[in-house]
Amino acid sequence: MRRTSIEHEFVEYVPSELAEGILYVSIPYATAVHRCACGCGNKVVTPITPADWQLLFDGDTVSLAPSIGNWGFPCRSHYWIKRDVVRWSDAWSDEQVAAGRQRDDRGREAYFAQREGTKAGLAASVSRPVRHRLNRLRRWLGL
Ligand SMILES: [Zn+2]
Repeated sequence: MRRTSIEHEFVEYVPSELAEGILYVSIPYATAVHRCACGCGNKVVTPITPADWQLLFDGDTVSLAPSIGNWGFPCRSHYWIKRDVVRWSDAWSDEQVAAGRQRDDRGREAYFAQREGTKAGLAASVSRPVRHRLNRLRRWLGL
């Protein structure tokens, strides 16, 4: 069942068993994790970086931007988390997903290029602190 609200919980480590309806937020690992809001049970990992998702904590509720599009899951659910409320969006077509991915990639490249002060490719330009954080995240996720 599609949920319309989500509670947030600040944690250092995300528990191995994720409860439904909780957005776990780890500031030390700059990551938020939750189970898909459609109820399918899939684990959704949203890294918090300038090029991925941004988290806003207003002192009471949290928001994530941009929207969460679970195109890799059979449910293909698409929603926003705004002030602990789940706002459902339309599922995207394959074309829309592809266009969105291209946009994301361009945004990421621009971000890293700007950060490095170079037009070098993404792989070459990931800075050490970001790589360190990504490696920590991978270890933490057991990848
Ligand atoms: Zn789902």
